[in-house]
Amino acid sequence: MALRKIVTGEDPLLRKTSKPVEVFDEKLWILLDDMAETMYRNEGVGLAAVQVGILRRVVVIDVGDGKIELINPIIIKTRGRQEDSEGCLSFPNEYGLVERPNFVTVKAQDRNGVDQEYSGSGLLARAFCHEIDHLDGIIFKDHIREDEPEIPRRRRRRFDHSPR
Ligand code: ZN
Repeated sequence: MALRKIVTGEDPLLRKTSKPVEVFDEKLWILLDDMAETMYRNEGVGLAAVQVGILRRVVVIDVGDGKIELINPIIIKTRGRQEDSEGCLSFPNEYGLVERPNFVTVKAQDRNGVDQEYSGSGLLARAFCHEIDHLDGIIFKDHIREDEPEIPRRRRRRFDHSPR
């Protein structure tokens, strides 16, 4: 495994739409392993491939309950609402209150191309939404309302950046 460099700031790559994965080969497995290592090393809870410069629909998530790998993920069900502060490994030291569904079901393929379904609430639901947004060039800041008051420092919680 190897650490990959995280794309940050206003890099135009973060605004691009990622392409579906069609080949489930060793190159994909290396990418997944490298993404996981990069996520853990940076104390993140999720990472999308575009954040390491690869425009493919690949996501890794671990909110503390074990690693989930999502290939070509689609959100198929949402329920409820939650609001909490969010940040992003690609935007260090930037945070905002973001409303997300409180319960999310995702359909995706695993690293072998087999269909899987995952459901999560709370932080995991937030992670699904945040990371899948990345695949369509959407960043968390797009969801912050202009009139939002600044979040007090004690309430700031990094999201795909160290929430624990
Ligand atoms: Zn992010």
